[in-house]
Amino acid sequence: MADQQTYHGSCHCGAVAYEARSAPITQAMSCNCSICRRKGTLLAFIPASDFTLTAGEDALIDYQFNKHVIHHLFCATCGVTSFARGSKPDGTPMIALNVRCIDEIDPDAITINRIDGKSF
Ligand SMILES: [Zn+2]
Repeated sequence: MADQQTYHGSCHCGAVAYEARSAPITQAMSCNCSICRRKGTLLAFIPASDFTLTAGEDALIDYQFNKHVIHHLFCATCGVTSFARGSKPDGTPMIALNVRCIDEIDPDAITINRIDGKSF
């Protein structure tokens, strides 16, 4: 697609790095569920096929809870969650990007949608 952009994300220490292809990301989700409220992640979702982990598969620690449908990943060295792995209800693998970790995105310049994940 013509308006696809490539975004570059990473954890703080740089062990984990990725490229994500998406239409321009102009909004992100702020969720009040038990993990998002603690981490402060701002999430945008893309199909896993548009995501390439360029470094750090071995550096990721996988944290799961509740129904174990989402892989909450964080860097073993610096602890930063730069993305998570999950899937849509139809089974399509999805990536939740933490836009706070993406070079090209200013979190203060995009629209934040507050999601009541606590009630899901
Ligand atoms: Zn790190």
